[in-house]
Amino acid sequence: MNNGAVSERDLAAAVARFAPDIIGISVKTATLNAARKTGSLLRSIRPDIPIIVGGAHATVAGQMLIKEPWVDIVLSGECEATLPELCTRLMAGDPVSEIAGVFTRQQRDEDRQSYSFILHLDELQYPDYSLFPGAVQDTLRTGYPLVTSRGCAFQCVYCSVPLISGRRFRKRSPEKILDELRGAVSRYGVRAFEIIDDAFNLDMDRAKEFCRQLIQSDLRLFWSCPNGLRADRVDKELAMLMHQAGCRSIMVGIESAVPDVLASIHKGETIEDIEQGIRRFQKAGIRVGGYFIIGAPGDSYRAQEKNVEFIRKTGITAHFNMLIPYPGTALWEWTRAHARYLADIEEGLHFSDSVDKVQPVFETDDFTAADRRKAYTMVHTRIRHFDMVIPRGTTCPCRVARVLHFLWTYDRMSFAAYPLRQLLNLVKRLFHDKKREGERNS
Ligand code: SF4
Repeated sequence: MNNGAVSERDLAAAVARFAPDIIGISVKTATLNAARKTGSLLRSIRPDIPIIVGGAHATVAGQMLIKEPWVDIVLSGECEATLPELCTRLMAGDPVSEIAGVFTRQQRDEDRQSYSFILHLDELQYPDYSLFPGAVQDTLRTGYPLVTSRGCAFQCVYCSVPLISGRRFRKRSPEKILDELRGAVSRYGVRAFEIIDDAFNLDMDRAKEFCRQLIQSDLRLFWSCPNGLRADRVDKELAMLMHQAGCRSIMVGIESAVPDVLASIHKGETIEDIEQGIRRFQKAGIRVGGYFIIGAPGDSYRAQEKNVEFIRKTGITAHFNMLIPYPGTALWEWTRAHARYLADIEEGLHFSDSVDKVQPVFETDDFTAADRRKAYTMVHTRIRHFDMVIPRGTTCPCRVARVLHFLWTYDRMSFAAYPLRQLLNLVKRLFHDKKREGERNS
């Protein structure tokens, strides 16, 4: 259902047609409301079918989730081995409560078997996309999602990766990864892939070996790392090898360019480390973007202005997220003690196409919700990402009026220069198009 809009009517019809024995719903905190709506609808039309809920939110908040009336079983942790076992037992009518990671309403807390992580990732089968619709398979050609490792040893206070994937860095061998890629090329016509690991370059030697084998292979693929790399885990050699192996763009987790804020989130690296890493990637010919957080402990409107200065200085692109605390993280505890909650975490949006939709879920005396929203608008105005603050579908005159309003409010120095530059670009583009057309005609 993530791959396209499905109406309630279509969903009911699909359930009647397919007649499932079991329904599974994967939930992230951000999709809990949607999952709740879908699960409740399914529960009302087919109360006899067990609904299993898994995914990241099931792993960090299983105890809360099992209290929801539409949920029969929560399956936390990595489920490649436990989900087939759970299905087999459900079909046979056998008890399921001793399966690791399972929560049922009948269980007592002390009877729950905690999940363990899969140690040997090479033993897992490769993902099979053949059951997905053709349109989904088409998207694999230019962005095949590749997992080469799981887990992260760092302890960033806001991050739920260590809870979901563990603190131990588990890795696949380059041979198996390349074998999966070869299969993806022949089955789906893949031309480019995206590494979506939690921390691909945590083990630099392994990352280098993967690149070397990819360079030596017959595969000629472009790739990127959109999930965020550690900027302190790259040397000149790794950056060069990544570029040689086809990597053209990466994202880096920066979070804040202000040393005090960076220290408060226990990122384990300094802004100097981060800048050095960015320069290494850039010198190798790899485009770099940075992830930033709005609302970390110690953050402020002024600190966000510093982030924009850092973005301009390093020439990176940037993506800003409004901070949402996740259960089980150190930030969750910190906000419980030092912040005021304004909404449930599932109501929060990290980002949107409109500042009106971005709802900070907590605030502090030093950085109120109103200032967080102003900071969100200011940073996107100054980096010219107006699509993140003005809703899609806004009419052209309204859009122009809002852009001018934001520039006047948050970037007054550019108020006159920006429209002039846009006009100049437009003229240049028209001139260029005209020239191309003339060349084609002659
Ligand atoms: S933010 Fe990145 S480096 Fe920090 S704990 Fe999470 S995955 Fe590890």
